[in-house]
Amino acid sequence: MRVRKVVTTRAGGRSAGAFRSFNLSRGVGDDPSAVAANRGRLVRELGLSGAVFLQQVHGTRVETVRGPAPDPGAPDVAETDAVVTAEPGIGLAVLAADCVPVLLSDPRAGVIGAAHAGRVGAAAGVVPATLRAMVDLGARVEDVEVLLGPAVCGGCYEVPAEMRDEVGAALPGSGGRTRRGTPGLDIRAGLHRQLDVIGVRGVARDPRCTMEDPDLFSHRRERSTGRQAGVVWLDPSDG
Ligand SMILES: [Zn+2]
Repeated sequence: MRVRKVVTTRAGGRSAGAFRSFNLSRGVGDDPSAVAANRGRLVRELGLSGAVFLQQVHGTRVETVRGPAPDPGAPDVAETDAVVTAEPGIGLAVLAADCVPVLLSDPRAGVIGAAHAGRVGAAAGVVPATLRAMVDLGARVEDVEVLLGPAVCGGCYEVPAEMRDEVGAALPGSGGRTRRGTPGLDIRAGLHRQLDVIGVRGVARDPRCTMEDPDLFSHRRERSTGRQAGVVWLDPSDG
């Protein structure tokens, strides 16, 4: 089945101030009616029957959606950082503003997943957990295709040396140096290596850095800000 993956930007929404304008998070202090309008627009423009949003906590819990699509006013799935489904038409959304939105699909099996993978969740194994949940729905690891969405890049993501070493041990390939020569992390590089070791061959990386691209929300750049979404869905309109 045809799989679609998109990542939103700051443009095209109703939110004001620090959240200008297409903020999709309910958890950052934005006006709830603006967030509802933005989510409504997302669902309409993408032609979805609905979308699943998560109350993300940098953990490894994976929700399995067996349909139908939740009501737009329904609460976000509590304390969950990843979601999988085999139901066509439902958008799986993960929110990020420097963390990596990871969008996964097995087009052959018709199984998709989305994971919010920041430093903590990626090191804890949220992406392998998502893959396992997809396999439970009939996906095959060797058929899975992954998009690693926009995130803070290795050149920008400065952390204390001790943190770099800890995360680098849990997620090999993520530790390195920033452009300034200080200890840094490249979470997408670590996830790419992790997926390679698991046997996922179809990994694509969105090259954009959230900290450097003013069209994207960045927590590290702005502190109080909104969240963009990575969205994946099975398109029922074509086979
Ligand atoms: Zn950067």
